[in-house]
Amino acid sequence: MKECPRCLFDESIASISENQCEYCDLHDQLELQANPHELKHIIKMIKYKGHDKKYDCIMGISGGIDSSTLLFTAVRYWDLKPLVIHFDNNWNAPEAMHNMRALVEKLGVDCITYNVNKAEYDRLNDAFLWAGIPDADIPNDIAMTKLMYDTAYKYGIKYILNGHDFRTEGSTPKGWTYMDAKYIESVYNKYSGLKLHNYPLFTFKDQLFYALMGIKNVRPFHYGFDRESMEAEMKRLINWQDYGGKHCENVYTEFVGSFLLPEKFGIDKRIVYLAAQVRSGKLSKEEAMEQLKQKSEFDFTKLGASAERMLRLVNLHKRDRSFFDKYDFKKYKHLIWILAKLKVVPYTFYVKYCK
Ligand SMILES: [Zn+2]
Repeated sequence: MKECPRCLFDESIASISENQCEYCDLHDQLELQANPHELKHIIKMIKYKGHDKKYDCIMGISGGIDSSTLLFTAVRYWDLKPLVIHFDNNWNAPEAMHNMRALVEKLGVDCITYNVNKAEYDRLNDAFLWAGIPDADIPNDIAMTKLMYDTAYKYGIKYILNGHDFRTEGSTPKGWTYMDAKYIESVYNKYSGLKLHNYPLFTFKDQLFYALMGIKNVRPFHYGFDRESMEAEMKRLINWQDYGGKHCENVYTEFVGSFLLPEKFGIDKRIVYLAAQVRSGKLSKEEAMEQLKQKSEFDFTKLGASAERMLRLVNLHKRDRSFFDKYDFKKYKHLIWILAKLKVVPYTFYVKYCK
């Protein structure tokens, strides 16, 4: 199997040219677009557009390192007035709860917590486990997106700040995850015979509507600033509690990443994070491979009374995604390219879904 000379990917997940793979190309492209002066300009614009409002931007928090560092930096260093959103799916790790509470209190920001309709949410998760597809954690991402845009619109906020960092998180290979609202509806319906009533779904129509409303999604980490020292300062301020591996601030996400994906689908998401750190020079290839060799363990007692039911569903079968309905993004590739150029949707969205 051909391997990327630069990062950890091989041709089973990426197309590889002579020097590097397509995800290394994407990394270099994002690095070229990264301009700290542009970040300064964006922050100026956020302040200008929100100068007469209570909030000038909106951001989500999970109690994890990326969103916490971003919120801290936005308030203490950029002097922004964020409204903070938390999507509570009942699976927060206790350490994450501490981090969120402490951060909101110390920074004195307003935070809206959205609680899911538990019966519907549990049924939706069960549907994704039953479906036998590797997308079990995507309903959480899509709900968060919907809540952010809806709330931004409600409060007249024009900027969503997003904590994604291509230098540490990278980009998930095509085929590993798929997400769109129609697909989620379809999985839920085929499992339960029901329609979703309460669950926040971000549809393509929503995406276009909010684009027209001029709500922008900004990823400040992509432009580059002194992230390490901000992170250290934030941790000191709130007596940071560590929750283990990447994205383990949420028990369900941890279950999917550390157990379901590697055991059932042979997908180890750590390779994505580690490859990103190799590309950005934070780790050597050898160090990353060493970390990847260590098996990830998941403690099933964290799932409580749901463990038995969830494992039964996991063991049922595997299916192809084509069994469910999806949007045809390729049909709109020219429009999405323009939206990406206008920074309305992330450029990575265009690369992943339309190319
Ligand atoms: Zn590569």
